[in-house]
Amino acid sequence: MNTSSDYSIGEPGHPWGPDDKSAWLSLQSAKRSYQVLVESRISSLHDRFHVECYAELHYPSGHYKLYAVSSQDWNPELPSVLITGGVHGYETSGVMGALHFLEQEYESYAETFNFLALPCVSPWAFETINRWNPLTIDPNRSFVADSPAQEALAVVQYLERRGLSFLAHFDLHETTDTDNSEFRPALAARDAKAQDHWEIPDGFYTVADTSRPC
Ligand SMILES: [Zn+2]
Repeated sequence: MNTSSDYSIGEPGHPWGPDDKSAWLSLQSAKRSYQVLVESRISSLHDRFHVECYAELHYPSGHYKLYAVSSQDWNPELPSVLITGGVHGYETSGVMGALHFLEQEYESYAETFNFLALPCVSPWAFETINRWNPLTIDPNRSFVADSPAQEALAVVQYLERRGLSFLAHFDLHETTDTDNSEFRPALAARDAKAQDHWEIPDGFYTVADTSRPC
């Protein structure tokens, strides 16, 4: 069990206020480059896909363009599949998996489905290896119309603009070992609520949340 006292920021038993959130933000720094690892790969997809910048994020530490990559000849007769990666920026395999799919696997399925992929929904968190955005908001809990998380709001608004319906949505996540050493203790401290350690599974799995037929 993690308690808020396990974490270096905040006062045990008290949810974080603005100063604690600023203190957390001041400890974060870029560990890798979105431009080098993600944007450069998306740029090279231009000749095979429709690539669109659907929004920009503006943070004091940097600006980020958000990209959507979709089937060039969208066929309304075909079922459509949505792929999102990097909703949790530190979950690298989702970002790399979405890019790998577009680069290497897409052609095998292109006759059967339309695809729309948002390979890295939360690029600041990708660069700083974080679950939250700079405001300590978890984008994955924020896909609502008046979302406080720019990352999630941009997705909601973009999908509304496209007006598409999807047969399936693959939202690519990863359970890292650091969930129990860093991210859940930080959550416990932010909200002043104890968090159980969760099991870190090996391998690959799918989770369905709507009716929980896992
Ligand atoms: Zn995740």
